[in-house]
Amino acid sequence: MKTKTILVIGANGQIGTALTEKLVSLHGSERVVASDLHTPQSPSAAIFEVLNVLEAEKLNEIIAQYQITEVYHLAAILSAKGEQHPQWAWEINMTGLFNVLEAARTHHLKVFFPSSIASFGLHAAPENTPQHGPLEPSTVYGISKVAGELWGQYYFQRYGVDIRSVRYPGIISHQSMPGGGTTDYAVEIFHKAVQHQHFTCFLHENTRLPMMYMDDALNATINIMNAPSADIRIRTSYNLAAISFTPAELFEAIQRHYPDFSIDYHPDFRQAIADSWPKSIDDTSARVDWGWKPSFDLEAITADMIANLKLKYEGSTAN
Ligand code: NAD
Repeated sequence: MKTKTILVIGANGQIGTALTEKLVSLHGSERVVASDLHTPQSPSAAIFEVLNVLEAEKLNEIIAQYQITEVYHLAAILSAKGEQHPQWAWEINMTGLFNVLEAARTHHLKVFFPSSIASFGLHAAPENTPQHGPLEPSTVYGISKVAGELWGQYYFQRYGVDIRSVRYPGIISHQSMPGGGTTDYAVEIFHKAVQHQHFTCFLHENTRLPMMYMDDALNATINIMNAPSADIRIRTSYNLAAISFTPAELFEAIQRHYPDFSIDYHPDFRQAIADSWPKSIDDTSARVDWGWKPSFDLEAITADMIANLKLKYEGSTAN
């Protein structure tokens, strides 16, 4: 059997930066190849290759060169950016995925492909959105995720490609900035608070959305990839949940650490996207099939974000 060797595509992004670090800590720097369009500003311990996932030949060369066995395919154009350039977003999200699926079929790779709560759309039940229900997204990003989920299932059923997927909620992290999604406010707000600046929120104060701390998202990702294949009974994508909150509730949680922190609300085009997404998610299947369980609630996320960003901006954890 080949030694597990991992390729991360889109490794410089919000999730890729943290996931690459975690994979290196688990498997060692020589077993993880990070890739993205450009070399990262602060390099990780992983091997790095410049890769545009639209270039299938280069992708296959890298897979052969490093004898890759697993791919984490994170390169995508997210919801807000995608609405500004719909055809470009479709091209990257779909052609990129096809290149990965074809490479997986040829080289017998295990694949992680994240989907999103953007898959559901307005006809899905907004509370406790079930695993199986209508998927009629209104954004090009959501359409590409639904199509991607179904193509993943097709490659599993038709060619036996071992593809695994979760529908991430909005991810909150301190490691790097988010890349153009509708939940980005929930990261940006912490950066403003720690720098003692005012925050203008692009969503309405009562917009409740499902969210998750990066540590939980990484655990879910590693755990679904490590689960026995027979336990993965859903090959489209698993619902995944941790907590749901509104901008006003997040602001209050931060204000307990920074009493002078101030906010105002100027909803923009991202409000309509957020309004088409669920408020909370039923993730029973993930819990039952491969033991998913989140650890971070709003208080824990707030405390950890502030502690880490203080280190970044001030080099200390004191207020
Ligand atoms: P991001 O925008 O922060 O990072 C994406 C990375 O992909 C960037 O570093 C970018 O340079 C790279 N990329 C773009 N086009 C590329 C190409 N053609 N070839 C190679 N690399 C390319 O995104 P993220 O937040 O890290 O998201 C990673 C995955 O998780 C995406 O599939 C996204 O849809 C999914 N997801 C993220 C969230 C979230 O809240 N961050 C929520 C749901 C799903």
